[in-house]
Amino acid sequence: MSIAENIEKIQCGVMKAALKVGRDPETIKIIAVTKYTGVEQINEAIRAGVKEIAENRVQDALVKFPLLNGSVTKHLIGTLQTNKVKPAVREFDLIHSVDRMELVEALEKEASKRNCQVKCLIQLNISGETTKHGIGPEDLKTILDKINSYTNITPMGLMTIAPFTDDPEQVRPIFRCLKNLFSEFALTRDDNWRYLSMGMSHDYQVAVEEGANMVRIGTAIFKD
Ligand SMILES: *Cc1c(COP(=O)(O)O)cnc(C)c1O
Repeated sequence: MSIAENIEKIQCGVMKAALKVGRDPETIKIIAVTKYTGVEQINEAIRAGVKEIAENRVQDALVKFPLLNGSVTKHLIGTLQTNKVKPAVREFDLIHSVDRMELVEALEKEASKRNCQVKCLIQLNISGETTKHGIGPEDLKTILDKINSYTNITPMGLMTIAPFTDDPEQVRPIFRCLKNLFSEFALTRDDNWRYLSMGMSHDYQVAVEEGANMVRIGTAIFKD
């Protein structure tokens, strides 16, 4: 299938999942994860209507972004080393992978230097898998309190990567847990608190049913 056909299939899948639980499909952003793919294919996706793309490495973004045709919103979804904070703040519109205090400090420092706001999501590790990055739910309040004490970081929500399973139903509790945390902290936050980034190629429909408003799709767009 072509990239355009794959995108259409994902749009359909998102719509179905949203309608199943009475949500407006228009409120859900489909982010094309371009980490596996080259500039030509990314531009093909942009021609097919993709408005949001994600990379997981800053160095790949530096190579690809200057060659893209058309304006897209750019997301960083991979672990961010503190020595790459400067280009990350410059190149990306939203950083999904804020997962430690040291990174929060580095982002604040860079954003304050540039006199800009860094928009970010906090990455949670709900399942406790040691191979996954992200903070435990018990540390969320501490990291948000820290961010609150700063002026140049805007936390906009939460992100998680669920463990890979053959049956996406198995990760439903993880998505539900992230949504609950999101809602719980919404009480103490402002209007910027609005993104719940969860769901990938194999489990995005379950994620949408559980409240995701950003799904990150790579394989199902570029490799199927
Ligand atoms: C690669 C990646 C994705 C996309 O995964 P697919 O299974 O290819 O859709 C989503 N989120 C993150 C954080 C990733 O690293």
